[in-house]
Amino acid sequence: MQNILDNTSVLLIYTGGTIGMIENPETGALENFNLEQLQKQIPELHKFSFHIDTYQFDPPMDSSDIDPDIWRKLVHIISEHYDNYSGFIILHGTDTMAYTASALSFMLEGLSKPVILTGSQLPIGVLRTDGKENLLTSIEIAGAKNEEGQPMVPEVCIFFENHLMRGNRTTKMNAENFNAFRSFNYPALAAAGIHIKYGSGIRKMLTKDEVLCPHYLLDTNIAILKLFPGIQESVVASILEIKGLKAVVLETYGSGNAPRKEWFARRLREACDQGIVIVNVTQCNAGTVEMDRYETGYQLLQAGVVCGYDSTTESAVTKLMFLLGHGYDAAEVRKRMGQPIAGEITT
Ligand code: ASP
Repeated sequence: MQNILDNTSVLLIYTGGTIGMIENPETGALENFNLEQLQKQIPELHKFSFHIDTYQFDPPMDSSDIDPDIWRKLVHIISEHYDNYSGFIILHGTDTMAYTASALSFMLEGLSKPVILTGSQLPIGVLRTDGKENLLTSIEIAGAKNEEGQPMVPEVCIFFENHLMRGNRTTKMNAENFNAFRSFNYPALAAAGIHIKYGSGIRKMLTKDEVLCPHYLLDTNIAILKLFPGIQESVVASILEIKGLKAVVLETYGSGNAPRKEWFARRLREACDQGIVIVNVTQCNAGTVEMDRYETGYQLLQAGVVCGYDSTTESAVTKLMFLLGHGYDAAEVRKRMGQPIAGEITT
């Protein structure tokens, strides 16, 4: 990697995933390939008028193996090279991309440049690949500036199949279609057709010179508890009694509802009293939690469960890791779960 001091320049960070695979002509098997090969597969990369530098994970990773250490590594790479580039692209497997995008949105406080995650459903080396389009448009957006010469999109986003979405609002919702990601509760930040049209929901910078403040501390003592009809007390108890557990993302029904079993409310109340933070998010793709709407939700509020509003599970999980990583006590974490940090909820 070289240091670039030109006007517009983009750092392309390749972590792995389907996008970076190519078919071995002899065996037909999909294999990881390096960025040099990527440039050969996409000669259009040379047509950009700005510099594109690359940083490659060695070996490339399937995104199922991405974890908080890798988020820290990405934050480190971005903050180390922050002043040298106008924007950053992260090539990432699609499976956990929404988690990475959510985590980075919290960890990169004061971000005033685009960090765009993208990937593909078909490898770059396959004829009908969606990866080429995703990558080229992501690069164009990462280098785009407004009339005042400021980056068009100063936030962490996912670009996929013609849509730029706020990273911490996205969910992978299709394992097969090119249209794999959706931001159900927040409008797309941009749509790419003949022109790239930017929407009004893009984060506005607070001041012209916001300073990047990278965060590295994450606490992973959390669990996800997804309700289903017939869930047993022993299942709920075994999660709430995990040693060292600090927070739970409770995936409820509809607008935040749960069964009205005496043991259920009691177990939750006991956990909340012990200082475990329980956050209510809905299993529905779209819409928000309103615990005072039905008796089945109100009982959770009375037990001490906090509202996750219209948060995705990915965002609630990573935000809890981030807040707990700061060492805040349960009351403070509960309060902050109800306040947006990076546009992740609408309250
Ligand atoms: N398993 C791959 C990954 O997430 C799938 C993909 O890239 O789309 O790394």
